[in-house]
Amino acid sequence: MSRRQSAPRLEFEAAAIYEYPEHLRPWLEALPKQPGVYFFHGESEAMPLYIGKSVNIRSRVLSHLRTPDEASMLRQSRRITFIQTAGELGALLLEARLIKEQQPLFNKRLRRNRQLCSLQIIDGKPQVVYAREVDFSRAPNLFGLFANRRSALQTLQTLADEQQLCYGLLGLESVTRGRACFRSALKRCAGACCGKESVEAHQARLLSGLSTLRVNCWPWKSAVALKETREGMTHYHIIHNWFWLGAVETLHEAAELMRSPAGFDHDGYKILCKPLLGGTYDVIELNDPEAR
Ligand SMILES: [Zn+2]
Repeated sequence: MSRRQSAPRLEFEAAAIYEYPEHLRPWLEALPKQPGVYFFHGESEAMPLYIGKSVNIRSRVLSHLRTPDEASMLRQSRRITFIQTAGELGALLLEARLIKEQQPLFNKRLRRNRQLCSLQIIDGKPQVVYAREVDFSRAPNLFGLFANRRSALQTLQTLADEQQLCYGLLGLESVTRGRACFRSALKRCAGACCGKESVEAHQARLLSGLSTLRVNCWPWKSAVALKETREGMTHYHIIHNWFWLGAVETLHEAAELMRSPAGFDHDGYKILCKPLLGGTYDVIELNDPEAR
């Protein structure tokens, strides 16, 4: 869950003067024991102080009220409101979107990541490619999603160390063709650089090491609807290229959402990949409204 971002010293002081926030009691009664997103509002009508999600809004909000570390947020809060969702998935998606849009003071800052990158195998060699240049929902042979180039290369290097891969062949350091690399003398490279092992064997270990990181291409032609339902509420999540376009109550309303552009979305990928591919939800393929 998101954390507050004030300095540790301030949090300690806030905790020392914690008092149960009696002024928030009137707002508790309406809170449902159902999944959804909740908001702590301060003086501002427009911007909430904090946005959270839970499968049980009521019990989650009550636990905030008993958390001395959150005294400062609780003191500034004037109202608590909520939006119910059809389940945990809807709550996760809505929370992620609203935090990104509204950047509440007491949520961890989520910055738009222009550096989002991945490792793509091009002509047998891993290369760092960026989401702003390559469509990550369609490009083949992508492995891992990284916040920046450095962390992508770090992952590759760790894999090389574990699997005795050659830094030279991976492009992590420059070597003279056919000449043994420095690490092979130390037995840290199995020797694909100097014929001690075949390039194919080296490649096979690289791919098997990367396999758990494989980025799934968007497997449908257009958008899909994922049905999430609980007693008394059904939502269809309309998703395209791993991007959550929104939730609707009937599929007739989907066409409107499908008009918005949908590029690869890291949050959407993280939240939706398993539910969409895992087979536990009904996933309905939608026709592209433009194609009709
Ligand atoms: Zn080597």
